[in-house]
Amino acid sequence: MDKTALTAVLKEKFGFDSFKPGQAEVLEALTAGKNTLAMLPTGGGKSLIYQMMGNMRDGLVIIVTPLLSLMQDQVARLNYAGESKVVALNSTLPQDARRTILRSLDQYKFLFVSPEMLGQTVVQSALRKVKINLLVVDEAHTIVSWGPDFRPDYLALPQVHKKLGQPQLLLLTATATPKMMNDITVPFGLPESDWFIYRQSVDRPNIYLHTETLANEGQKRERLADLVRQLQGPGIVYFSSRKLATSMADWLAENTDRRVAAYHAGLDTMSRYRIQQQFMLGQIDVIAATSAFGMGIDKDNVRYVIHYHLSNDLANYLQEIGRAGRDGEQSAAILLYVPGDENLQLNMIDGTIPNREVVMGYYDKRFGADEIGRDKANLLDFYAKQGMNPDEVATMFEARRQQRQQDLYNLVNYAKSDAGLRRQLLDHFGDDAKSN
Ligand code: ADP
Ligand code: MG
Repeated sequence: MDKTALTAVLKEKFGFDSFKPGQAEVLEALTAGKNTLAMLPTGGGKSLIYQMMGNMRDGLVIIVTPLLSLMQDQVARLNYAGESKVVALNSTLPQDARRTILRSLDQYKFLFVSPEMLGQTVVQSALRKVKINLLVVDEAHTIVSWGPDFRPDYLALPQVHKKLGQPQLLLLTATATPKMMNDITVPFGLPESDWFIYRQSVDRPNIYLHTETLANEGQKRERLADLVRQLQGPGIVYFSSRKLATSMADWLAENTDRRVAAYHAGLDTMSRYRIQQQFMLGQIDVIAATSAFGMGIDKDNVRYVIHYHLSNDLANYLQEIGRAGRDGEQSAAILLYVPGDENLQLNMIDGTIPNREVVMGYYDKRFGADEIGRDKANLLDFYAKQGMNPDEVATMFEARRQQRQQDLYNLVNYAKSDAGLRRQLLDHFGDDAKSN
């Protein structure tokens, strides 16, 4: 379909007059039958693309979503827009509710599903019985950035795609380097000519970029309080742990006149929802968050994002600061760094990625799950089930460790520089937008 025809649908079904940048190009490619990987900025209207495809074509749109909260949010939005044929399939549903859904898939137009759920054979066989309109992977950078050490079901999506008879793909992301985009598409094993790749500049000119190196933790804390006192409007401060997000939320509330709340994945669903709503409504000024906060959050007037700790890498950093200034107004992204801050992440990398000794020991039963930890045991079981041999698994994790360390050092270099920040970010993402 051409842009004029698409615009007519947009107006009639969604009430919008024009497309946001990239939406029309992606829809043209999809209606022409191309598999598509699209990188559009946060707030760029990625959901509208698959919603429109659901409206224009028969069959089920399957949307693979990493977080339960995102799933609920998307279902609510579609329901609100008058779409009733929407369902979410996830592990929180009781077994019989899941079975009922799987038996009545042909009643729905949109199915939200976690990658773990989609990995299940029962789910796949139910899906093989219905007509699939489109297989969407939202936040598709997670396929590579979460990698083999976290939620391996993401990496198995290409196999699932084959088992489902290779339905048309729509992979959506807001942050991916050219290398990541390549790594995302290649495992699907489709000829290059079947793909349409859309990349928009990652540059967000209205976000002022700033880094500061402080001598020690005490100074960093004081500096954070200064910033929170000075900066206007809603803000997000990112911390590396739940414990710190919680204690620093209290500390900031005492030491500034701002209303501060902590947000992390350890809170129950109701509290998370309540805090999100209060932030949306302006009843909370500052969220002291872990990286669990933000994916899919649709608040357009966040004025600043401060990182009290490093993210894992530049792609995550960019994703997190992208939550500022979606309304196009002046906003700030500030990274506070104390030399050695990276040790936290380095320890985390060591803690989560099994080394060769652990891999070999677990497979030849010298260590059990109690010794190496449940999470690692689950990972290793997963790869054994996939038919990989111990040496291959160990080598894969070694490469992964090196990659993650390198990615982290790229962010450390960014944190240590005080000039040319935008150029550095854009270069990393292979972006040739003008630097400033
Ligand atoms: P993303 O997933 O890319 O971060 P969303 O799909 O959540 O973005 O969309 C962000 C907002 O933009 C939503 O409120 C959506 O209704 C709105 N939106 C999407 N497409 C358009 C459009 N063509 N014109 C105006 N608003 C749009
Ligand atoms: Mg989205």
